Amino acid sequence: MANAYDVIIIGSGPGGYIAAIRAAQLGMKVAVAEREHLAGICSNWGCIPTKALLRSAEVFEYAKHPGDYGVKIEGSVTADLKAIVARSRGIAHRMNNGVGFLFKKNKVDIIWGEAKITKPGEVVVSKTAKKPVEPIGPIPKNTLGEGTYTAKHIIVATGARPRALPGIEPDGKLIWTYFEAMKPEEMPKSLLVMGSGAIGIEFASFYRTLGVDVTVVEIMSQVMPVEDAEISALAKKQFERQGMKILLEAKVAKVAKGANSVTATIELKDGKTQEITADRMISAVGVQANIEGIGLEAVGVKTDRGFIVIDGYGKTNVPGIYAIGDVAGPPLLAHKAEHEGVICVEKIAGLPNVHPMDKLKIPGCTYCHPQVASVGLTEAKAKAEGRDIRVGRFPFVANGKAIALGEDQGLVKTIFDRKTGELLGAHMVGAEVTELIQGFVVAMNLETTEEELMHTIFPHPTISETMKESVLDAYGRALNA
Ligand SMILES: Cc1cc2nc3c(=O)[nH]c(=O)nc-3n(C[C@H](O)[C@H](O)[C@H](O)COP(=O)(O)OP(=O)(O)OC[C@H]3O[C@@H](n4cnc5c(N)ncnc54)[C@H](O)[C@@H]3O)c2cc1C
Repeated sequence: MANAYDVIIIGSGPGGYIAAIRAAQLGMKVAVAEREHLAGICSNWGCIPTKALLRSAEVFEYAKHPGDYGVKIEGSVTADLKAIVARSRGIAHRMNNGVGFLFKKNKVDIIWGEAKITKPGEVVVSKTAKKPVEPIGPIPKNTLGEGTYTAKHIIVATGARPRALPGIEPDGKLIWTYFEAMKPEEMPKSLLVMGSGAIGIEFASFYRTLGVDVTVVEIMSQVMPVEDAEISALAKKQFERQGMKILLEAKVAKVAKGANSVTATIELKDGKTQEITADRMISAVGVQANIEGIGLEAVGVKTDRGFIVIDGYGKTNVPGIYAIGDVAGPPLLAHKAEHEGVICVEKIAGLPNVHPMDKLKIPGCTYCHPQVASVGLTEAKAKAEGRDIRVGRFPFVANGKAIALGEDQGLVKTIFDRKTGELLGAHMVGAEVTELIQGFVVAMNLETTEEELMHTIFPHPTISETMKESVLDAYGRALNA
C-alpha cells in the first residue's frame, strides 16, 4: 500500500529528522509529517539562527576594540541590524533546505500538513491550520499531502513552543517571544528580558553587545539557574562588566503597555517593588510541549506535567507509539532530541546493545559572552546526593592561549568522586567552552577517572589545557597556577 510505512514521524525537528534518517539507514520505509518548516525550531528559530546573531555580535565587539589587538580601523564601526538579521535568516533557510536534501537522499517521504494519531498505527494528515510565523522557502517538491497513512510505529516529535505567563502574554510587538527577538525590525534602545535560562541570556548577550540597555529579571538566585552556582556567578560578573543589569530573586509581577514601550513592576527580594520601563520585553520563561491536537488522549498516551511520558528508549505506554525530543521532557535540547531519535529507532529495529538515555551525560551549552558549558553533577547536586567529592578549578588567566587570544576571563571546574576518582561533573565559563566540553562528555561516557585524564596529553597552546589543569588541581597537582 502506498500510504503504509514502517515508521511515521510527526515533526521534522532535530529529533524527528535524525530518527527518520537512522530508520531509513536501517532499511525501514519512513515518512515524516511536517506542518510548518523542515528541521524544526532548532534550525529555523532556535540553535542555529541565534548562533548566527551571536557571531555577528562577537565580530562587532572585536571591531569596536581593534586597538586591543594592535589593529586600527579608520572611521566608525556600526552594526547593520537588517544585514545581521538577513544573515541569520539566510542561515536558517540553508539548514532547512539541507534537511530536505537529506530526506531525498535517504528516501524519506515528506507528508506536508497537520498530523494527528487517530488510532494506534494510523495517522491522519490534514491541511495545516497553523499560520507559519514566516514562510520558509517553498514546500519541498514531491511531498505527500492530506490523507490517511498507516505505520507499524509512530514517533511523536512535535517539539515545543514559547511558554507564556498569565497577564504577561507576548503580543509580538512590545512583548516578544524568541520568534520576534530573532528578527527585530528596529533595534530597541532598552530591553527587559524576563528569565535568564539559555534562551533569555543568549538574547540578552546579543542585544547588550549591540549597545542596547538590557535588564535581566530572574526569579531564581542565580542566572542560568541549572548551572553550577560558581560558574553562574562568574558569568554574571562578566555580564555586569559589559553593562547588563541583572536582578536576581526578582519577579515581573505585571506589565503595563504604552504606545511604544512597556513598564514592568518588579517585585524585588527585599519585598520592595521597582518599575522598569523599556522599549521592548522578551518573555523567556521556558517552553511548553506541543502535546495538544495530535490525538494523544484518543489513544490514551500518558502525559505528566505537560510532557509525554517515555521510558529510556522513547516508548510511551501505548504499544507502537513513541515520543522523542522536547515533547518528551527536559532537558529541552537539540542533541538530546537527536540522540533520543537514534535510540528509539534502533530499539524498534531490534538492534542489540542499545543503551537507554542517560540524562546525566547530556551536556548543556549557552552561547552568551562569555560562554557557559557543563555536563554531569554540579557541586551543589553532588553534595546534596551525599557524595564525598574533590573539586578542581583552573582559571583562564593562567592559560597562555587564552591570554594570547585576549580571552583571559574564564574557569574550568571539575568534580570527582573522592573514593573512586570517577569524573562526576565538569563546568566551564569562558571563550570556546561550548566546543571544549565535549572532551569531558567523552570522558564521562567512558567512565573516566582522574588517573586517565591526568595521563591524557592535551595540545599546547590550547584553552583545553585548562581542562587538564583543573583535574590536576582537584588532586593538588596543578602545574601552572
Ligand atoms: C531561541 C532558541 C535557542 C535554542 N538554542 C539551542 C541550542 O543552542 N542548543 C540546543 O541544544 N538547543 C537549543 N534550543 C532548543 C532546541 O531548539 C530544541 O530542543 C529542539 O528544536 C527540539 O527538537 P524537537 O525535534 O524535539 O522539536 P522541534 O525542533 O520543535 O520540531 C518539532 C517540529 O514538529 C512540527 N509539528 C508540531 N506539531 C505537528 C503536527 N501536528 N503535525 C506536523 N508537524 C508538527 C513543528 O512544525 C516542528 O517543525 C533552542 C531553542 C530556542 C527557542
